[in-house]
Amino acid sequence: MNNNKINRLLNKALDFEFLSPDEGLLLFYEASLPELMLYADALRKKLHPGNTVSYIIDRNINLTNVCFSNCLFCNFCRKKKDSDAYVLGIEEYKRKIDELYSAGGNQILLQGGMNPALDIDFYTNLFKQLKSVYPDLKLHALGPPEIVFIASKAGISIESTLDRLIEAGLDSLPGAGAEVLSDRVRKLLSPAKCSSEEWLEVMRIAHLKGLTTSATMMFGHLETPEERILHLVKIREIQSQKPDLSKGFISFTLWPLAGKNTALMRKYPEIKPVYQHEFLRMLALSRLMLVNIPNIQASWLTMGKNVGQLSLFAGANDMSSVMIEENVVSQAGKNYTLGVDEMEKTISDSGFIPQRRNQEYHIL
Ligand code: SF4
Repeated sequence: MNNNKINRLLNKALDFEFLSPDEGLLLFYEASLPELMLYADALRKKLHPGNTVSYIIDRNINLTNVCFSNCLFCNFCRKKKDSDAYVLGIEEYKRKIDELYSAGGNQILLQGGMNPALDIDFYTNLFKQLKSVYPDLKLHALGPPEIVFIASKAGISIESTLDRLIEAGLDSLPGAGAEVLSDRVRKLLSPAKCSSEEWLEVMRIAHLKGLTTSATMMFGHLETPEERILHLVKIREIQSQKPDLSKGFISFTLWPLAGKNTALMRKYPEIKPVYQHEFLRMLALSRLMLVNIPNIQASWLTMGKNVGQLSLFAGANDMSSVMIEENVVSQAGKNYTLGVDEMEKTISDSGFIPQRRNQEYHIL
């Protein structure tokens, strides 16, 4: 092991220089967890000098569980004929959004399956209807796979699809469905979803239109370390191409596979769970590779509160959301929850000042 080389690379990231894929890989294999965390924490302090950690109150609403995609890691999707298949009606939205407003939030993360019965008119009508009832509601909605699906069903371009959705009320685009941006992996995990190039292209176009987006990676399944690093590099490159006035990827969230009782684990029983040590290494490395993305979230929802707290010393500056409802990873064995009081206590017990934020990361 070459300690000088490792130190040089860690300092390069600390100076906001891009690490190459080979350099990232070298750190992945050779740097120790304390080294990675120390430098990721130092970089986070440069980006966020105050001793604060932010969080948001929002609600995840899954608009339908009907999906043709059959991703191997998904226990949430249903066929149309299944007895528990659903498409939410407006009264359900109102009940859920009223609860969100009572809890002090005004953003919904609105996602669902790729339901062949729902077309672009369905989504634009839904967005308009929700905005007419709740004019200040923020719609953090859909994701690149759904955008590609809606565009192809309508026979129109990604540009036109985004234009119509923005006009109807779409405020920001979550980075859902990225998994690992390698077509080799995607063919094994989720062959019906958009390709990695399509995922990146949707985000590139969204940034051109000034839509704020987020980036994600779900790891710990069939990917190689090289594919993890290349995923980060691809995201970083799209971020480099955004117009100056666009925020682009405002955040990055890393989470491990939640695979309990999924077809993926039946097919590949050799997949090992991601342990805390591995998660924190990958999180710190993500902070160091993604120097042009301002916010890194701590993934307490999938890793639990304690790892969420440790994440705040491995590059994360945001505890993400007090999710009033979560239906997807909870159906694959991950079921952690935090109320507002507990969220604030979790942050202050870690030595930081909790700050509530909105979807644009402005402190409230
Ligand atoms: S993860 Fe999403 S796209 Fe894949 S099957 Fe489940 S609902 Fe469908």
